[in-house]
Amino acid sequence: MSESADFTSNMAAAEEFLTRFAGAPTNHLINGEAAASLDGATFENTSPIDSMRLGDVAAGDAADIERAATAAADAFPSWSSTPGVKRKAILHDVADLIEERAKQISVVESIDTGQAIRFMSAAAIRGAANFRFFADQAPSAADGQSLPTETHLNYTTRHALGPVGVITPWNTPFMLSTWKIAPALASGCTVVHKPAEWSPFTAHLLAETALEAGLPPGVLNVVHGFGETAGKSLTEHEKIKAIAFVGESTTGSLIQMQGAPTLKRVHFELGGKNPVIVFDDADLDRAMDAVMFMIYSLNGERCTSSSRVLIHASIYDEFTSELATRIKGIKVGHPLDPSTVIGPLVHPNHCKKVRSYLELAAAEGAVVHRGTDMVDPPSNNFVAPALFSNATNDMGIAQEEIFGPVLTAIRFDDEDEAVAIANDVDYGLAGYLWTGDVGRAHRVSQRLEAGMVWVNSQNVRHLPTPFGGTKSSGIGRDGGDWSFDFYMETKNISIALGNHPISKLDS
Ligand code: NAD
Repeated sequence: MSESADFTSNMAAAEEFLTRFAGAPTNHLINGEAAASLDGATFENTSPIDSMRLGDVAAGDAADIERAATAAADAFPSWSSTPGVKRKAILHDVADLIEERAKQISVVESIDTGQAIRFMSAAAIRGAANFRFFADQAPSAADGQSLPTETHLNYTTRHALGPVGVITPWNTPFMLSTWKIAPALASGCTVVHKPAEWSPFTAHLLAETALEAGLPPGVLNVVHGFGETAGKSLTEHEKIKAIAFVGESTTGSLIQMQGAPTLKRVHFELGGKNPVIVFDDADLDRAMDAVMFMIYSLNGERCTSSSRVLIHASIYDEFTSELATRIKGIKVGHPLDPSTVIGPLVHPNHCKKVRSYLELAAAEGAVVHRGTDMVDPPSNNFVAPALFSNATNDMGIAQEEIFGPVLTAIRFDDEDEAVAIANDVDYGLAGYLWTGDVGRAHRVSQRLEAGMVWVNSQNVRHLPTPFGGTKSSGIGRDGGDWSFDFYMETKNISIALGNHPISKLDS
């Protein structure tokens, strides 16, 4: 099919899929039932493309969280004691149905977030892959270690923690939700999900799909609404044993405070200002492709984006000049157009923030290069890619997370300086480096303050590996067994093997 035919078919699909959201409000899903907010409150969800109404969504508050937390607590004994092989089978059924509905999910996601469909179609499939990966671990999730001594047999077991809260952001919300929800369910936990208010639709599709695939009522509940109301109540609720949160670092701090009185276990995936270091001995063509991909795909609205490129002085001018030329070829356009790379940013408020950095860059003395604007954009939410050259690491454009298609290019003279600049930010999520020197690859990787480092590569995920950040970028790791450790409690059982000595206190 040609690209224009694809675009037409995507638009027709969007019209069909979005009709349901345009009518009656999208309600919470509590105990397997659609439920309006108890006080009837709703909020309007608008399109990033033209800021027009897509539909109304229930706005939850403490009373709705109370209903959802109670449903999750009631469902917990049965779900956590469902045999792992049964949980595995159900979660694979969920993955099957996600795959069947991948087109619907990706089109709705694209319209709701503004992310280009070329990336969102993969995101729906990746969501199914997350379910399959964690489903496969369910039968062995409770397994522990044997730690014997001469007198005792110690062995550990793991048990699901209880009902947990999952709070997600608006960037790639479907994929990110599955990344949290699938391991929680595989562990035997039940979930209350509070999706982001700027992109609520695919959370509804996920929970509805899971229910239809056979997940019992109450195991996955969704309460829509705002962070300060629904989100805050979820983090404070005494029945909720842990919060898995993805979002801004400042929100993470608030959640830690809100959860303190009930001693919440927290897992945070927060912001980033990730460096990609390009040494002059690297394969510069491949480095260029990776640098471009990691900041200008997904609208730059990606926690692991390489938003600072640190370039060796001997190749700085040549590399930045090539970048400045190549960004002109990046297509900004309608998110359902398969040839679009950058769609509209998610919301006018976020767009305003990203644009403010274009002004800041000039005020701070960087050189601002721009890509090609969309012709006749339907709103002000479309931002052409930008490159800030001649930047230094003390500038706001080098220190603050912009979360848009905006790249800050900084010069360095030697390896020590590259590492110092890379580490001189509050964040520590991911680091990327490009070099042909294997010794340098290891040296620099070890010195980077980041939870994840990729050498001569863009971000390529492998689900058994740990994902997460250091410093202001997060607490804890996801992936592989790290996810199960978070959603489960470890217990040690110690059994005396014979008549070992016991101190007598009465003689
Ligand atoms: P955000 O922190 O504003 O919101 C995230 C979620 O938290 C939303 O659902 C929101 O309603 C909720 N929330 C807000 N205030 C709350 C409160 N007081 N209590 C409970 N919940 C509250 O983040 P955002 O703008 O939606 O997302 C962008 C951010 O997410 C960026 O900083 C990005 O780097 C980060 N992110 C990190 C990762 C990662 O893996 N490290 C992945 C994706 C996004």
